[in-house]
Amino acid sequence: MSEGKEDNVQVVVRCRPLSQKEVDAKYKMCVHMNRATGSIRIVRPKDSQSSGEPEHTYTFDHIYPPDATQSSIYDETCRRIINSVMDGFNGTIFAYGQTGTGKTHTMTGYPDDPGVIPRSFQHIFSHIEQADKTKQFLVSVSYLEIYREKIQDLLSKKENAVDLPIKEHPKSGVYVKDLTIVVCKDPKMMEAVMQKGSDNRVVAETKMNKTSSRSHSIFQISVECADLSQLDKDGNPIVRVGRLNMVDLAGSERQSKTEATGDRLMEAIEINKSLLTLGTVINMLTKKNPGHIPYRDSKLTRLLQDSLGGNAKTVMIANLGPAEYNYDETFSTLKYANRAKQI
Ligand code: ADP
Ligand code: MG
Repeated sequence: MSEGKEDNVQVVVRCRPLSQKEVDAKYKMCVHMNRATGSIRIVRPKDSQSSGEPEHTYTFDHIYPPDATQSSIYDETCRRIINSVMDGFNGTIFAYGQTGTGKTHTMTGYPDDPGVIPRSFQHIFSHIEQADKTKQFLVSVSYLEIYREKIQDLLSKKENAVDLPIKEHPKSGVYVKDLTIVVCKDPKMMEAVMQKGSDNRVVAETKMNKTSSRSHSIFQISVECADLSQLDKDGNPIVRVGRLNMVDLAGSERQSKTEATGDRLMEAIEINKSLLTLGTVINMLTKKNPGHIPYRDSKLTRLLQDSLGGNAKTVMIANLGPAEYNYDETFSTLKYANRAKQI
């Protein structure tokens, strides 16, 4: 069965549980999820300063309530993307949401409860092990972050690795000049590279969370496959390259909440703009005749241009906090996620 173009873009929502602190403070939940119908209802708290309808209901490709496991998210939402990367197509998985809602939990997770990125390592290498012996694979990774519209190499400690330029190759497409690329032979090696990059990740302090991340990070895996049983007219094996981008986006919270001024305010404006551009691009990709897609309006979309649209598959995982005091941000995340998929 052939999939329609709109199936190439999926938007799912994951809601984290109330934290112990929130439980102790007896916070109520403002979101209610119904797995059977795939719908999620958000109810405005009685003491809210916001106006508008008292409640809204949205439906997404999948919804993940607080008790959803890391493996269910991987199996139901991410696995198909990695499978398509193994076949030579590009794929991108985004984690979107306010700081503290579980983006890093979802993407990276913990050694005893791994997230999407480490799960993909196992998946990729088990796929390679099971493949026909006529297929030869080369797996390589890079890890970068975009902070204030500058690309920084997370796998390099060199001082000049902080504002790398984006280039375009006529055949292989968009790439980052001088970015470190590490060839990996097994999942263990990939984990070591991921750990190194995560340790290097720039974190800034905001009022909301001491280690809230103000940058987008992209963990990219390239899977090159040379098929010795399929030769081109010159007798060379056909080579396919699939790229998998796993993106932990900067926190989507608005600056008022963090009382930003000066540099921090500029930072927030830049984050806002790139998240807005991303939402617009994803939304346009779901349309039949999208016209001009504004990839160039942000570094993030420019860099991912070849992995958004065409035959590439995209998933946006929107993360939510359920407590009533998060109502405004949670409502805004649901509106963003809903708009991304509105045809
Ligand atoms: P973000 O990256 O969006 O800022 P984190 O991933 O750091 O958020 O999550 C914030 C806190 O909430 C962490 O302590 C994390 O372990 C916890 N958390 C997030 N999502 C879940 C979940 N689905 N189940 C249990 N704990 C979670
Ligand atoms: Mg994080």
